Amino acid sequence: MGSPDFRNGSFRSMGTTATLALAPGSSDPIDPVTARIHKAFYELEHEMSAYRRDNAIWELSANAGAAEVTVAPNTYRVLERGQAVAYLSEGAFDATAAPLVRLWGFSGGLIPKVIPSPEAIRECMTLVDYHRLILRDGKAFLARKGMAVDLGGIGKGYAIDCAYDCCRGLGIRDFLFNFSGNIRVSGRPARRKQWQIGLRDPFDRSAIIGKIALPSGMALATSGGYENFVEIGGQRFSHLIDPRTGYPVSETASATVLAPDAISADGLSTAFFVVGVDGAPHLLGKVLSTEVLIVPSRHPLELWMTPGMRKLFTPIHNLECAVRTLSFQ
Ligand code: ADP
Ligand code: MG
Repeated sequence: MGSPDFRNGSFRSMGTTATLALAPGSSDPIDPVTARIHKAFYELEHEMSAYRRDNAIWELSANAGAAEVTVAPNTYRVLERGQAVAYLSEGAFDATAAPLVRLWGFSGGLIPKVIPSPEAIRECMTLVDYHRLILRDGKAFLARKGMAVDLGGIGKGYAIDCAYDCCRGLGIRDFLFNFSGNIRVSGRPARRKQWQIGLRDPFDRSAIIGKIALPSGMALATSGGYENFVEIGGQRFSHLIDPRTGYPVSETASATVLAPDAISADGLSTAFFVVGVDGAPHLLGKVLSTEVLIVPSRHPLELWMTPGMRKLFTPIHNLECAVRTLSFQ
């Protein structure tokens, strides 16, 4: 990407930038397609945002412990997929983590100022439990008052899959769709074998540590990364919270997942970020169609990769790091 031969269409949505890149030589129109995707994203954001007071996500929390709520089909699908990732990851990904995200002060991209007290964290954790989010026949129910849902860890992935389906439905074959570093590709760029994505160094915003080749149709998501860390009281925390401990993750610097669709890649990158290199083998045993690359936050740099990821990854010249194999248990 970046070459003048590529045609790009961009727009802002969900607090970040989305870009559709068409391979050189394609005659597909880009502006009307980008406009169509932009409109679809606008509707998805309206429907799924945890920061509005006029959608089913808000209604769901407002009725927690009291009544079930009818949910529009897109949101219901995302809730279902979120629950699948929650059960697979045994709660490392948990869409009901919203009260903890709020307690820590990460809501809406804010930066926390203080570390909550252990009592407040313990109290808040009684409101976080994916088993208590019940989905049935297009309706959702949170079983305890005070519970809330945040689809921020998976919603962008769903939007990318909608964009992908839109492009494919219009007959566009060779494209890359990038939404805040979460990516899905189709076909290939001309003259090259596969789309390649630079993987950012989680410790240095301006550097990449290598490139990942993406087979057609696949999606790549990275959780964590340089921008997503904050210092509170001299301690370094990520913006993703381990719902099982109530604290932000500190052992992982970034987790990258290659999966057959973007919603899986998005949700699983959060899950792998939370479980880290120690928990990854157990989770990998349950998601065999994914490839994973994890960078722990300790120094010096270590790259932990599944064998399939190793084949797709090319480190930059002179990269100094320890390469380790991640395999399922
Ligand atoms: P990243 O790109 O680093 O994965 P995302 O933007 O995808 O970050 O996810 C951030 C969102 O995930 C926030 O909206 C936050 O509320 C939510 N979140 C934080 N921790 C968890 C968790 N353990 N499970 C599910 N969602 C989480
Ligand atoms: Mg994510």
